[in-house]
Amino acid sequence: MPNITVTHAETGLIQAEVVRSERVTPNMVRVTLGGDDLRRFEHRGFDQWFRLALPVGSPDDLARMPAKFGVGGYLSYLRIPKGHRPVVRNYTVRSFDEPAGELAIDFVSHGTEGVAGPWAAS
Ligand SMILES: Cc1cc2nc3c(=O)[nH]c(=O)nc-3n(C[C@H](O)[C@H](O)[C@H](O)COP(=O)(O)OP(=O)(O)OC[C@H]3O[C@@H](n4cnc5c(N)ncnc54)[C@H](O)[C@@H]3O)c2cc1C
Repeated sequence: MPNITVTHAETGLIQAEVVRSERVTPNMVRVTLGGDDLRRFEHRGFDQWFRLALPVGSPDDLARMPAKFGVGGYLSYLRIPKGHRPVVRNYTVRSFDEPAGELAIDFVSHGTEGVAGPWAAS
């Protein structure tokens, strides 16, 4: 008998901005996101994860992201030309401060390789 239930929030694409970051251990950076659109975030509690899109070229490239990331959305994402296609990585919710509308993410800081780790570190 499983003692967990897996659920999926239908929120779709949310735009957010970095409000602060702090190095919580030598190898971990906590990045806190905020912004009006983040108030739509559906917090599901323990072990919730989501996809984070980061621009690799211009920040304007984020406007090319599909509104949903199902099969159709993923195919639209793949049609974004390389060089403009935001990088997508999965992250676990460290905490969500509902009154403030702020989402904290703990990034493993693993050096200069990759995209998301170095982005968080910088
Ligand atoms: C469901 C889920 C939840 C996740 N939640 C988190 C989270 O809360 N915080 C988090 O930091 N990551 C989390 N991850 C991992 C995250 O999605 C990325 O894979 C990770 O941040 C690396 O992305 P990157 O762009 O920096 O490196 P990538 O481009 O993916 O990798 C480039 C290279 O970096 C190195 N590298 C990557 N990650 C590590 C590491 N952890 N230690 C050492 N070397 C590494 C490897 O050499 C790798 O070949 C989660 C993954 C999943 C599937």
